[in-house]
Amino acid sequence: MSEDTRYVYGAGCMFSGPIQRVGTTQSGLPCCPHCKGVLFETDTEEKWWEMVRSYAQKTRDESYEPMWCWATGRCFATLESLRSAYALHLEASDDEEATDDD
Ligand SMILES: [Zn+2]
Repeated sequence: MSEDTRYVYGAGCMFSGPIQRVGTTQSGLPCCPHCKGVLFETDTEEKWWEMVRSYAQKTRDESYEPMWCWATGRCFATLESLRSAYALHLEASDDEEATDDD
């Protein structure tokens, strides 16, 4: 039995992660484990990151790929809510680094 390398991402939400981490709908289709939203899939995780990187290059958004690294396994309703949650996360880590400097 070969390993299932599929990597999935939300069609209606911002979930992304390996196929092993998703839920299934009543009809047995893979779905977001958080909001039960429908998912798209790629053959491998590498393909997903290629998509992320090409979008980041197109939009010249340097925070796009690290944002998706952080967002793996999490569900956000929109890209805007993902962006603001990630911004809050960065602020929180800045605070931690600041206290380490003391
Ligand atoms: Zn979701």
